[in-house]
Parts: sequence; structure tokens; C-alpha cells
Amino acid sequence: MSYLSYVSPSATSPWHTYLEQVDRVLPYLGHLAHWGETLKRPKRALIVDVPIEMDDGSVAHFEGYRVQHNLSRGPGKGGVRYHPDVTLEEVMALSAWMTVKCAAVNLPYGGAKGGIRVDPKKLSKKELERMTRRYTSEIGIIIGPQRDIPAPDVNTNAQIMAWMMDTYSMNTGTSATGVVTGKPLHLGGSLGRVKATGRGVFVTGREAARRLGMKLDGARVAVQGFGNVGSAAAELFVGAGATVVAIQDHTGTLVNPKGFDMHTAMQVLKRDGGIGQYPEAERIDNESFWDVDCDILIPAALEGQITVERANRIKAKLVLEGANGPTLPEADDALRERGVLVVPDVICNAGGVTVSYFEWVQDFSSFFWSEDEINVRLDKIMVDALRAIWDTADRHKITLRTATFAVACERILSAREERGLYP
Ligand code: GLU
Repeated sequence: MSYLSYVSPSATSPWHTYLEQVDRVLPYLGHLAHWGETLKRPKRALIVDVPIEMDDGSVAHFEGYRVQHNLSRGPGKGGVRYHPDVTLEEVMALSAWMTVKCAAVNLPYGGAKGGIRVDPKKLSKKELERMTRRYTSEIGIIIGPQRDIPAPDVNTNAQIMAWMMDTYSMNTGTSATGVVTGKPLHLGGSLGRVKATGRGVFVTGREAARRLGMKLDGARVAVQGFGNVGSAAAELFVGAGATVVAIQDHTGTLVNPKGFDMHTAMQVLKRDGGIGQYPEAERIDNESFWDVDCDILIPAALEGQITVERANRIKAKLVLEGANGPTLPEADDALRERGVLVVPDVICNAGGVTVSYFEWVQDFSSFFWSEDEINVRLDKIMVDALRAIWDTADRHKITLRTATFAVACERILSAREERGLYP
């Protein structure tokens, strides 16, 4: 492991988790391991002050970040997160996972991520807009359609992308639709983008289940996080005959062995912004979520959720990482020893950035595809990528996570080597 002077990762921090994952793949990279240190250092990290006038006339300052982890394979790509716990170190890890994720599905992108340390629920809509616009202006010196393309992540959405696109366009005197993805449809957004991450989780889950000999029809699914990713994945699993038996989000943990009705769940989510008031389910304490009897577990919330202790209690045979970085390295080992298969974030949730790529391509060509076309292409990319990863895992007898890193890092470091050191 290496150490940068500007971060001091604790054993459970996302950057530490990422460095550990890199160390695990280096032995499988052959001569390219020579370039391994590249992976352990973000190329560029920008910290910005975001001052805005609040509705009551006071001035508030927020801390914002944009980290470009690696640009060897193309412009930076990755979401922007609004959360009170955002730190530079977290954004670094998330940007690095974007590098790996984009390479795993062979998109012509590097990896980047942004964030603001803020609880957006405490801001009015106007304050949220002012903060988004000022943040976009501040990071405007490093983003752009050919440089670095932000997108939605935790607590950001199409409206926020519209403000980002508008701010960047006004500042540059262009109509820069390609500067962000996940935009509204009127502004060059893509059909299928909102549900793409959840769809990718479903597609990789379907393939993994097939290989395990597990039938989706009747499979019991537990979902942590019922936002954009968790809810879309849950709907697709239910559509394939599975039963969602547990849902946890920031408003509580609910179980119903007979299954949640997705139509009602979506209505409750829309009404309350959380699942807590769903009728006909039993409320249990949050920690008991990890003991729920289920076949498939979908962590689709934040990092560091699956600790060793929780890993040893999980009943599922298959874990689908909708979230980024939900499993700590020691927990990965524990799950492997217990015979639980983990489809890692860097392939499992790559559906979102894949349709972001489709959006960016459509914006450049000003020619828009049908939703069917998008979903068919997404399915194929995910299935083909997972097959290559699975073959690598079988060949080296390594986990799907290390295999995904192997496939991706081979591509990243080959590009790095071919481009050579500048000057
Ligand atoms: N925030 C999403 C992720 O973590 C999507 C990023 C993108 O579309 O650029 O993969």
C-alpha cells in the first residue's frame, strides 16, 4: 500500500478499501504491474469553496470536490454526490471505482467523481439551485464534454444535471449538452437512463443466478437502499417472478415474507421520499436487516455496509452490489469462505454509466435512440462483460471482484503504457 500526504485512510474508509482491492489484483497483471502505482494516486483532485446566499439572507459555505482519478482511456466520467458525510477521501475512492468500472465494460472513459458536503434535504429548491450552479462554475475549470463529464449519484438527479448543463453552457457560450449525463429528456437526456443502473444490477444478477442454478422465479430478495438503483432493480426482479421480502432505507427497515407490492412501494416512495410508511409490512430494527432470510441481497445504499460481522450473518447466496464500495475487504473474504457469491459494484452497477455513455454519444450525433434499442444494447454489454470477467475468475481461481479489476486494470495500464510518460 502507498500513502499520500493529503489523506490518512482508516481501516474502514473507502480509499483504504480501494487500495486493498488494487493490491489484490497486482499479482495478476504481469508486466503491467510495473504501472500499478498509477492506480493508487488520483491524477487530479480539486477542492472548491461553494458560497451561496441562503433564503434568509445569510451566507453559507459548502465544501465541494471533483477528483479525476485516471484519464488514460478517455475523459473523466462519474457522478456528483450531495451528502453530509462526503469527504475528499470518499470522492477519491468513488472516482477510482469509476476508472475501473468504465474499463470493465470497455467504455472510452477514465474515472472521476464529484461531491458536496451538504445535507440537500435542508436546502430549499432555490438554495439547491444556487449551490449547484456555483459548484459547477467552480469545477468548470476541469470539466467539459471532452474533459470530464459529471452525472447523477446519491441525492442528485436530472434537475440538478439540467442546472449544471445550463451553468456550463452559459459560462462557455455554447449549448454543451455533452457536459453532463443523466439530463432531462428535453435537454438531450437519454431514454432508459433513470433505471439503467437498476437494470444493470438485474441483468448481472440474472446471469449470476443462472450460473448458480438459482431460479429467479420465487427467489427472495432483500434490498438496502430504495433510491434510484434499489427500487428499479427490485421492480425488475419482481417482474421476473422474485419476491422482495425486505427493504431498508433511511426511513426504516421493513419485512414481509409474502412480498412487497412494487406498485404500492413506488407510490409510498413518491409520496414520502422513503419506504417507512409502506402498509402491510413489519418494521424491524435496522441491524436485523442482515439476518433476514433471503436468496439475493442487494446493497444499494452507501459504502462500508457489509462488515465481517454482518457478512457472517448474511443468509443470501448471492450479493449484488448496486452501491459503490458496500463490502469491506475482510468481509469479501468472509463471504467467499461461506460460499456467498458477490457480483462486485464495478460490474454490477455499471449499467448507469453505460447508458450515460449512450446519452453522450447521442448528444454528439444529435440522433436519439429508442428505449428498446438502449435496453438491448445495455443488456448485451453487461452480459458480454460479465462473461469475460467470469472466465478470468475461473482461469485464476479468484473472486469476481479481483477478476473485474484484472480485466479493467489490464485495459487501463495498457493504455497508460502505450501513451507513455509525458514529457
Ligand atoms: N453515479 C453513477 C455511478 O456510480 C453513474 C455515473 C455516470 O453515469 O457517469 O456509476
